[in-house]
Amino acid sequence: MEAEQKTQTAKPYGFTTLQIHAGQEPEPRTGAVTVPISLATTFAQPEPGKHRGYEYSRTGNPTRQAFEACMAALENGKYGFAFASGSAATGSILNLIDAGSHVISVDDVYGGTQRYFRRVVSRTAGLTFSFIDFNQEGAFEAAITDKTRLVWLETPTNPTLKVSDIRKVAAVCKARGLLLVVDNTFMTPYFQRPLDLGADIVVHSITKYINGHSDVVGGVVVTNDEKIAKDLAFIQNGLGAVLSPFDAYMAMRGLKTLSLRMKQHAANAQTVAEYLEKHPLVERVAYPGLKSHPQYEIAKSQTSGSGGMITFWLKGTYEDACKWLSNLKLFLCAESLGAVECLAEHPASMTHASVPPEQRAILGISDTLIRLSVGIEDIEDIIGDLDQAFAAIKH
Ligand SMILES: *Cc1c(COP(=O)(O)O)cnc(C)c1O
Repeated sequence: MEAEQKTQTAKPYGFTTLQIHAGQEPEPRTGAVTVPISLATTFAQPEPGKHRGYEYSRTGNPTRQAFEACMAALENGKYGFAFASGSAATGSILNLIDAGSHVISVDDVYGGTQRYFRRVVSRTAGLTFSFIDFNQEGAFEAAITDKTRLVWLETPTNPTLKVSDIRKVAAVCKARGLLLVVDNTFMTPYFQRPLDLGADIVVHSITKYINGHSDVVGGVVVTNDEKIAKDLAFIQNGLGAVLSPFDAYMAMRGLKTLSLRMKQHAANAQTVAEYLEKHPLVERVAYPGLKSHPQYEIAKSQTSGSGGMITFWLKGTYEDACKWLSNLKLFLCAESLGAVECLAEHPASMTHASVPPEQRAILGISDTLIRLSVGIEDIEDIIGDLDQAFAAIKH
């Protein structure tokens, strides 16, 4: 497999070198240093049934494969599969298990993932789900049944930034023969490599940090397991929700600066988190890089940085939170995350509005919770914007 070969030759290189070069040889005919956008849907065969590695573009596309190989290298995996969205990647992974299987998922899993679990595959494949807090002693083991096949982790979670111990969960999965999937969208392989910590599968919404410029919707799955890779290739080709060559090119271009962006995101976010923690109008801040984070030690043990996402609880009311968001000038009030620009959002009225209020209360998604995706702008401008937004709601 191409991805495997590329990863093995590229492995001695460091992360930043890999993000620029893995899977990306100069184009053989012209020497072009960037991978061309290969738009052909079909590939000429010298003889019937004999092809040069490509037959039909859904099955395999040179631009997509270069991106898949690069992502595999960055996650320290052998096989990569790129999809039309993070959600399409999630849907494809769920096709690995048989109808009637039981899945254990972290309770505040990404809203779209939860919706797909609860309202699509539960109906179409009879899958059953337990949503648990992996930090609650014994909760995971207690949830395992003889039908359990797959465990879905997201760490940190969205929006409360709860951290789960990947090594600990992986050890139980190994002992019980369960597939462990980790959604690594928030940390990226620059800060966290779940396959190295024992996960079987890593999934990303590349819409976020991987592409990083708010102009591609896509997803990717990486694994080291040959059997899983074979099944995923079959499912990717069968379902057909593949990443387009243009989006693969864009994502590869974004990926070339991932480590530089992540360093700046994390440095800015650390400063913002410390600023918020001291602010009199802030009730509480959740950021894995703060000592006050309940899983600070776990985060430190499995990541090399804390990322760019911060959640905080404003003192006041639903209206105060909305007003604060409307006051922002540099931060854009928008859903999504992980791009170069600062974004802020109000989960209760935006991303998590579809989560029932009772469930929101259990997860701590209150009316005054605000989620920040801290960008890579100048830190003075970022703090300045937050300052003036607070000043405008002072009673
Ligand atoms: C955005 C997101 C997804 C879904 O990805 P799409 O590209 O929007 O389909 C899945 N998981 C997490 C953690 C996300 O942030």
